[in-house]
Amino acid sequence: MTKLKKGSRCTICKAKGEKEKAVVFLPHHRLALCKKHFVEWFEKRVEKTIKEFKMFSKKDRILVAVSGGKDSLSLWNALNNLGYEADGFYIDLGIDQYSEDSKKLSIEFSKKIGRNLYIVDLKEEIASIPVINSSTNRPACSACGTVKRYYMNKYAKQLGYNIIATGHNLDDEAAVLFGNTLHWDINYLKKQYPVLREEGGFIRKVKPLCKITEKESALYAFFNNIEYIEYECPFSEGASSIEYKELLSQLEEKHPGTKLKFYADFLRKMYPILKEYERKEQEEIKICKICGEPSFNDICSVCRLKGIIEKASTNN
Ligand code: AMP
Ligand code: ZN
Ligand code: ZN
Repeated sequence: MTKLKKGSRCTICKAKGEKEKAVVFLPHHRLALCKKHFVEWFEKRVEKTIKEFKMFSKKDRILVAVSGGKDSLSLWNALNNLGYEADGFYIDLGIDQYSEDSKKLSIEFSKKIGRNLYIVDLKEEIASIPVINSSTNRPACSACGTVKRYYMNKYAKQLGYNIIATGHNLDDEAAVLFGNTLHWDINYLKKQYPVLREEGGFIRKVKPLCKITEKESALYAFFNNIEYIEYECPFSEGASSIEYKELLSQLEEKHPGTKLKFYADFLRKMYPILKEYERKEQEEIKICKICGEPSFNDICSVCRLKGIIEKASTNN
């Protein structure tokens, strides 16, 4: 991405007989692009991914899970430009300045594109992430992921949306795939597909940026003047996925295309085999006895978490 040669021309402009200078070089696609053609390329690639995995159509009502970061805001912008019905959903995790800043940026962006943004305050639903973190011994990111998935699903259904779209990008997916492969975690690997189908009270979840790198989504945000939160969540420090991302980026630097090939070949060659395995070992979806939401156990993980937090608060 950084190795743009001085004076390079945009590949697409050149083919049209124009002489626009390239501002971006995508070595794994062998493309040098001007600003206009990079933005076009990005949106076309998102559209192609949506079609390739049959994620949704113009008739669907999509709720974009918005964190205030570059990926989810770029995704929302691209879906809006492509003509999809997409509103936003932000969960205020109560992580001090990080949540304040990311909420403000999400609200401002929703106003800019003129779409609804629903905001759910985790403090009112269960407890803030710092409180959850101090009441349990689960890693913060794992508890945070559980509550985010639960409330996104619950509210998307209540608000009448049939699709949840998240901003997970290629770097995220390749890093998770790397970790799951390192541990041969079949139960996670068999779920690592960019579309999770609707079933038993879970609505369809999709990742339209799964073939877009982190750098590409940052550039798309930059070229579209999208203001996003530039620092990481303070709780994510030391997460193993960050280490995996660094390792994969080192490989990518030497061998452009490694990340995409690793992930795309998994989907093409390995996932169909795992899907067969899934059919035989399918977990039964139940209904949580406390809240009525779908769950793989009699009591869902959020209701269990609530119990742990209540216990911790009465002990203090
Ligand atoms: P992360 O787990 O922080 O890497 O985020 C992955 C994706 O989850 C983002 O691209 C968003 O789509 C979604 N997400 C993360 N944080 C939030 C939040 N606070 N509210 C709504 N969606 C979120
Ligand atoms: Zn061009
Ligand atoms: Zn429950």
